[in-house]
Amino acid sequence: MAITLFSHPSCYLHLAGDDHPEQPARLNAINDQLIRSGMEFVVQQRDATPAQREDLYGVHAKLYIDEIYAKAPSEGHIWLDPDTQMMKHSLNAALHAAGAAINAVDLVMSGDNQQAFCNVRPPGHHATHDQAMGFCLFNNIAIAAAYALKHYSLTRVAIIDFDVHHGNGTEDIFAGDERVLFCSSFQHPLYPFSGELSAEPNIINIPLAGGCKPQQWREQIAQHWLPKLDQFAPQLVFISAGFDGHREDDMSEFMLTEDDYGWITQQLKLIADKHCHGRIVSTLEGGYALSALGRSVVAHLKAML
Ligand SMILES: [Zn+2]
Repeated sequence: MAITLFSHPSCYLHLAGDDHPEQPARLNAINDQLIRSGMEFVVQQRDATPAQREDLYGVHAKLYIDEIYAKAPSEGHIWLDPDTQMMKHSLNAALHAAGAAINAVDLVMSGDNQQAFCNVRPPGHHATHDQAMGFCLFNNIAIAAAYALKHYSLTRVAIIDFDVHHGNGTEDIFAGDERVLFCSSFQHPLYPFSGELSAEPNIINIPLAGGCKPQQWREQIAQHWLPKLDQFAPQLVFISAGFDGHREDDMSEFMLTEDDYGWITQQLKLIADKHCHGRIVSTLEGGYALSALGRSVVAHLKAML
């Protein structure tokens, strides 16, 4: 049994800004820890192909996508929002990050492998229907979910987002869409300061105060997500895998450890095994404390196997 890891050299070339926490070293930290833990022998590395413009139109406004292509700089950089920068490699990196998630859908739906992880950047879950936000250009997980619904005629997919920030972009794209069950747990209040109330029945938000301890986080997930996910019986499980709620990550005040990321992944694996032949597509979102990020991704992948 192996797990397929999609990435692309372009994802290492995108620079988000001087001293920016969303840096290429994040991907290296993950690769280093995979080797250190012996995991590289059970991980099949594959190069991602870029997403097509039509795939992006599936979740983003055409005007927004066309603008990103038009604005993409050939030198220097431009700011899309106060946290989100584009330089000459950014568009290519973002296309491969979204493309990796689409590749992962094709792989798990073909039955060749049931689980895939996308070791990519820039992340995606803050990108809304028509806006770049919070280090994110294209909403990778939403693009892949929309692709799966369309190309494989699925009617029920679940997206679980355990990044410490609310997956506002994914919620914006799928709120009210009964084919998608979106679950997001996050520190509140914290950037982007949304998600306190779940306005639509297909959105299950768990806002938690800073300082949240592992036991409390697990209890909330066991109570609010797992019964709903079981009832929903997803045909494919997507994970917005952000590891910035780790106690060593100063992006938040959560106190989680790699064991907690292993635990949540085990729970999602049980759901996937029961309802959809174990099919899981996971894609990297946040996680900025490099050592903790590497260890957390290893725990995540081990639990998926
Ligand atoms: Zn985050």
